[in-house]
Amino acid sequence: MSSLQAFIAARLAEREAANLMRRPPTLAAAPTPYADVEGRRLLAFCSNDYLGLAAHPDVIAAQQAAAALGAGATASHLVNGHLHLHAALEQQLAEVTGREAALLFSTGYMANMGAIEALLGRADIIVSDKLNHASLIDGARLCGAEKLRFAHNDLEALERQLRRARTKSGSAKILVVVDSVFSMDGDLAPLPQIAELCARYDAWLMADDAHAVGVIGSPQRPAGGSAEFFGLSQQQLPIVMGTLGKALGNFGAFVAGSAELIEYLRQFARTHIYTTALPPAVAGGTLAALRLAGSGELQQRLCTLVDHFRSQAAARGIDLLPSQTAIQPVLIGDEKRTLAIGAELQRAGFMVGAIRPPTVPAGTARLRITLSATHTEAQIDALLDALATALSKNKPVAGAEAS
Ligand code: PMP
Repeated sequence: MSSLQAFIAARLAEREAANLMRRPPTLAAAPTPYADVEGRRLLAFCSNDYLGLAAHPDVIAAQQAAAALGAGATASHLVNGHLHLHAALEQQLAEVTGREAALLFSTGYMANMGAIEALLGRADIIVSDKLNHASLIDGARLCGAEKLRFAHNDLEALERQLRRARTKSGSAKILVVVDSVFSMDGDLAPLPQIAELCARYDAWLMADDAHAVGVIGSPQRPAGGSAEFFGLSQQQLPIVMGTLGKALGNFGAFVAGSAELIEYLRQFARTHIYTTALPPAVAGGTLAALRLAGSGELQQRLCTLVDHFRSQAAARGIDLLPSQTAIQPVLIGDEKRTLAIGAELQRAGFMVGAIRPPTVPAGTARLRITLSATHTEAQIDALLDALATALSKNKPVAGAEAS
């Protein structure tokens, strides 16, 4: 065996032994929310298609129409990849989020890495919530700034880190980055209080709105994300990263903010500059999705379903995390038991995410149940019945749980 093969085999064996091996299922099509998974029809409660727009006929029709403009954009934005449809989408995203301007990126991962790397360097300090998404963590690594972390949503811990950062250097740029809706917990960051602390310590604030855009907003802009939801001005929350691949049902991402920030990122964000622009079809489909998300009806339906899910879970004695969003995890703790419950649910006809470390901290493996506006109350009740049965069949062994 070559040393490369030996290295790979050892790492895979380690992962298998820890019950952390990933085995992605193969689906015939995106869930509607029904999914054909390896020949079986399952009801999916795991996608990020919170509004059910990925399979909406208006979105698909707009996407197909835009495909006539070219299967691909054929180049980066700065060369010849920037079509009228991209410009229209950027303008619409700015409008929906209540910001002056927006800039497209190919993925949320790239948007986070590119924006952070463009704004910070080695002399600077980045302050992150401990449960931030991997792409924010990698952005922090890439820019080379000093990394300070604070306990999840703990404002006192954040202030301690801000004080520490300012004491270290009066002149460093300090960036505070948080998920606005935490992807594996579903709870919201206390952004108004975080913004206040940022103002006090002259730190910049960036929110990752991947799970917020489209889902939360204001009555005027129901799809507007966390800035709209909390009523935060561009000055209070200057940098918003949103994705197109979750509630908007498509693919890609954007950063929204002041016209100056967006011009700066167009010039300096390497993950925007050195990559092919999104296919025109994606821009066309996303514009249609934004129109559908703009009326607020889908978000209202989703809220009704979230309330229904929570009250019906409580009625069955199922403990939930304190989330008011479409992400409704059930904390299990042990990886093996999480997998067993996930498999039991699959046998009963349901698909939920069994999330294990390193995606979540050790000892906090969980079922990540997500709701979509296209689910029905009856489907939710059926899932909860199956979940109650699976939980009672897979009770924790006394003393075996890490949490
Ligand atoms: N941020 C968060 C909070 C996410 O959950 C994700 C996707 N899992 C991303 C960023 C990355 O977005 P994308 O899938 O568009 O790369």
